[in-house]
Amino acid sequence: MAISKKIEQMMGAGSWIRKMFEEGNRMKQAVGADKVFDFSLGNPVMEPPPEMQKSLYNLVANPPKGIHRYMQNAGYPDVRASVAEYLQADTQTSLDPNDIIMTCGAGGALNVVLKALLDPDDEVVVIAPFFPEYRFYIDNHLGRMIVAESAQNFDLNLEEIDRAVGPKTKAVVLNSPNNPSGIMYSEKKLAELGDLLAGKEKKYAKPITILSDEPYRKIVYDGHKLPSVFRAHPNTILITSHSKDLGLAGERIGFAAISSHHQDRNVLRESMIFCNRILGFVNAPALFQRAVAPVQQASVPVEQYQELRDVFCQGLMDAGLEFIQPQGAFYLFPKTPDQDDVSFVQELQKEYILAVPGSGFGRKGHIRLSFCVSMNEVKGSLPGFKRVVEKYRT
Ligand code: PLP
Repeated sequence: MAISKKIEQMMGAGSWIRKMFEEGNRMKQAVGADKVFDFSLGNPVMEPPPEMQKSLYNLVANPPKGIHRYMQNAGYPDVRASVAEYLQADTQTSLDPNDIIMTCGAGGALNVVLKALLDPDDEVVVIAPFFPEYRFYIDNHLGRMIVAESAQNFDLNLEEIDRAVGPKTKAVVLNSPNNPSGIMYSEKKLAELGDLLAGKEKKYAKPITILSDEPYRKIVYDGHKLPSVFRAHPNTILITSHSKDLGLAGERIGFAAISSHHQDRNVLRESMIFCNRILGFVNAPALFQRAVAPVQQASVPVEQYQELRDVFCQGLMDAGLEFIQPQGAFYLFPKTPDQDDVSFVQELQKEYILAVPGSGFGRKGHIRLSFCVSMNEVKGSLPGFKRVVEKYRT
């Protein structure tokens, strides 16, 4: 076999989302796309907002000289300045444009940061349930993933985090609004976590960096505002992208922002820029850096996601499923009638409904439903959910 045993094993164990996505494509070909209800992948159906389209059009119509050339590995200085200006106002913290590094999405940024931070066997704490790619990203850079379970309502469980953070911990990954649970961490909870980590940093005489993975930072419901992790802990790096908020998942554009209070900010910045280069990203895509810079405030219509959430939540509740109503992002994470989430997913497939088992996110007995789909798809799926839950009752 030409490929490594490790990759062979990883591909087998860790590809639930892609597996379901491919199954969805197969089903759509077999029975017609309108009969399949695909909640497997967080691939937004909403088109980028008009400001974004206009910005791209202007660029293509009047391309700046040299736009397709190499640039500084951190990205264009004026783009980083625009990002810093927006983020500074949004998080109410001061930021240096030099501490913004443009990346190939949040996935690219996470790999850049982990590459810069980790020595072999260093530990990175993640909160379960978690975005499954974290496991692979941490392994890419020879780190060890340590899981801290969340509370029953998916909020941060500080006792669990206290247990998980030890002398080898380099970083704690937070993801709020959360994929898969939709929970958002409160300012108070983040401040408590900040205190806990400050104590650990003192005890182990080293920085413990929060990697605040926020690709859903603008997708927040009911008029709430996302509290800033920068304000809770000085040693923080914010990571985000425009995959979800501007509907640009295929364009691979995002950034990492280092807190001005990070104790190793200068060396961290230089090493992240270096890692962006040596991981082969070199720099984030030139055209899309320029296209997103003037539209940092823009977003896809969040009220449409909120409407989808409301209709889906009501329908699933009527069907008899239990879940926590998401405060942000576009995922639902209902409990399955018994612990066997894989069988439940298979039963849903018989109704042409595609979901992902919670086990893939480190929490079995649940399914993840991604509702960045059309309202027709949400409404059309509800009778099928009802029939499956009914089957379990009888
Ligand atoms: N982090 C989380 C929590 C995600 O849900 C995703 C994508 O679904 C990513 C990171 C990666 O996003 P990007 O497309 O920006 O690489």
